Amino acid sequence: MTPLDFDARHLWHPYTNVLDPGPMHLITHADGVMLTRDDGGQMIDAMSSWWCAVHGHNHPSIVGAMQDQIGQMPHVMFGGLTHNPAIELGRRLVDLLPKGLDRIFYCDSGSVSIEVALKMAVQYQKAMGHENRVEFATIRGGYHGDTWKAMSVCDPVNGMHGLFRGALSVQHFLPRPPITIAQDWSDDPEVNGLGALQHLLATKGTQIAALIIEPVVQGAGGMYFYHPNWLKQARDMCKAHGVLMILDEIATGFGRTGKLFAMDHADIVPDIICLGKALTGGHISMATTVATETVARGIGESDASVLMHGPTYMANPLACAAATASLDLIAAGHWRAQVSAIADQMTQELAPARKLPRVKDVRVLGAIGVIEMHDWVDPSVAHQMAPQTGVWLRPFAHNIYCMPPYVISSDQLSQVTAAMVSLAKGM
Ligand SMILES: *Cc1c(COP(=O)(O)O)cnc(C)c1O
Repeated sequence: MTPLDFDARHLWHPYTNVLDPGPMHLITHADGVMLTRDDGGQMIDAMSSWWCAVHGHNHPSIVGAMQDQIGQMPHVMFGGLTHNPAIELGRRLVDLLPKGLDRIFYCDSGSVSIEVALKMAVQYQKAMGHENRVEFATIRGGYHGDTWKAMSVCDPVNGMHGLFRGALSVQHFLPRPPITIAQDWSDDPEVNGLGALQHLLATKGTQIAALIIEPVVQGAGGMYFYHPNWLKQARDMCKAHGVLMILDEIATGFGRTGKLFAMDHADIVPDIICLGKALTGGHISMATTVATETVARGIGESDASVLMHGPTYMANPLACAAATASLDLIAAGHWRAQVSAIADQMTQELAPARKLPRVKDVRVLGAIGVIEMHDWVDPSVAHQMAPQTGVWLRPFAHNIYCMPPYVISSDQLSQVTAAMVSLAKGM
C-alpha cells in the first residue's frame, strides 16, 4: 500500500467523507509560506494552515524555543506544579491583553477553551446566587468549535444542529448583526439588530449566564464582518442585565483583522476571552481562556471554590514555549504594516471578481480576503487545482477565501488572489 492508499483506507480527515476523501496532497515540509509535497511540488499556504501560521511555518525563533524546551522538559503536570514556560507566556498575555483581563486558564484547543469559558460563566453566576442563569445567548452565523457545548452555540442552520437534533442543549439565537463593517451605522434598534438583544434580555435575561460571540468577524460561520457598534452597545446592554460577555477571538486574535484583537475595533473589554489558533504561530496546539479578576474572584470565593476543569496536558511547556516566541514576534509589531499592506493589495486584486456572474460579494478586512459565491463551492475543485496554481486554498460553503501568513510577499499574494479569482471564474 502506498502512503496515500494507507491514508485513504485508514485515516479520518476533518469534515471529509471517509469513503470518498477526494484529492489529497502528501506534505513533507512546511517552511515560511510554502508547503512542499512528496512529489517536490510547492504550494503557497494561503490558509495559514487553518488561520494559525501567521509568521509562516517552521519559524526559526519559534522552532528554536521549542527545541530548547524539548531538551529540558517536554511536559509535566500542572496540578500542584508550575514552570517557567507557563509563567513567561502568562507575562506576555497580561502585557498584550487589555488591563483587567488577566486570569489565565491554559488548555489544548480552541473548542476546549470555549467549554472552559462557558463553565466559568455558569460557575460565576451560581457563585453570585443566580442559580437560574445557566443558558447562553449568541448570534446566528457563529462558529465556536466542535465539542458539545461549543457546538450548541454554533449557527443552528449552517452549523451541525441538524445532524445532532435533540442531542444539543437549546440556546438563544439572535439575528446576525445586519449592518456590516463597510456600511453606515444606524442607531435605530430595529435596523441595527440590537432590538432583538434588548428584547431577549428584557424577557429571558435572568436565565442567561453569558452572551458568547466572535467579535466583528464571524469566521467558519460564513466570513461575515459586522459593524463594531453592535458589539459596543451589546456590551453595555449585557452589563446592565448581569449577563457576562464571552468573546471568541480564536480566529481573530493577534492582528488578523488589522487590530491586535478584533474587540479593539469596538474598544470594549469582555468578561472572558478565548484565544487559540495563532497563539503558537501554528506550531503546536494550544489555547487559553482569560477571565477578569471579578469572574475569577467570584468563583474562588464561592462554595464550589474551584473551576471544575483541568486538561491532562494543561500548560504543556512545549506549547507555552512556542506561544511565548510567537507572542514576542507579535509584540515586535511588524504585523501592523504587513496586515495593512495585505489588506490594500487584496482589496485591489480581488475587486475584478465582483464582475463575475456567480460572485455575490467581495470583501476584505485585515489579512482576510473573501469572494462569496451565489452557489456552494466544492473544496475538492480547489484541492485539485492547487498543484497547477501553486496556491493552497480550502473554500467552505459559499466562500473562496484566504488568510495568508502575515509574512507573505507581494508577488506571492498576487499569486493567491489570481488563484482565488480563477477559482471563482471556474465555478
Ligand atoms: C477554530 C475556531 C474554534 C475552535 O478551535 P479548535 O482549536 O479547532 O478547537 C473556535 N472558535 C473559532 C472562532 C474558531 O475559528
